[in-house]
Amino acid sequence: MRIAEIFYSLQGEGSLVGVPSVFVRSSGCNLRCSWCDTPYTSWNPEGDDWTLERILAAVDAYAARHVVVTGGEPMIAREIVELTRQLRQRGRHITIETAGTVFAPVECDLMSISPKLANSTPRGEWAERHERLRIQPETLRRLMAAYDYQLKFVIAQPDDVAEAQELLRALDADVGKVILMPEGVDAGVLRDRAVWLAEVCKREGFRFSPRLHVELYGNRRGT
Ligand code: SF4
Repeated sequence: MRIAEIFYSLQGEGSLVGVPSVFVRSSGCNLRCSWCDTPYTSWNPEGDDWTLERILAAVDAYAARHVVVTGGEPMIAREIVELTRQLRQRGRHITIETAGTVFAPVECDLMSISPKLANSTPRGEWAERHERLRIQPETLRRLMAAYDYQLKFVIAQPDDVAEAQELLRALDADVGKVILMPEGVDAGVLRDRAVWLAEVCKREGFRFSPRLHVELYGNRRGT
């Protein structure tokens, strides 16, 4: 499995924000978000192929019960099913962070699905492919039916909220599992967007998520 990095930090986003976790970040993605905050796993994928034994040894070096398998898009990795099976055998709590465009029969305690809105579509040669792939309603429904899930949307502007709501209606999603998060990799931008996004969450009953890792460490790898 191609690995960009494995590190120990606090979960920075979503319903488990603040929980000490080991992050296994795969490299490679089927999308190309314009604002991707890990371009070293998508636009310019880095990292080596690791054996499962090496990945598990790196995870075992930390005492944390929570493991977050992220990317890139970890659900496209061929070894993801076996990796999660072995993590489960070790009694770990498994979160998978995915854009929700691919299904695989993984072991998972929290499927953290982040469907990509139109604000993610880049210009240039990737535009058409990204736009065609970014929302896969049947795959989203399948993931939501198979796992405990959260739906996490990255919001850059007020129009994004309407787009997210349209998708939520189509999916008949549980509002209590919906999380809105400001887009940005700069603490100042995040603060500005958080102010109006918090009001949207109060009005609509969605959960608000900060990006704790950016606030604590800035936009740095390994955090
Ligand atoms: S899905 Fe995630 S990793 Fe892939 S391009 Fe978008 S933000 Fe980056």
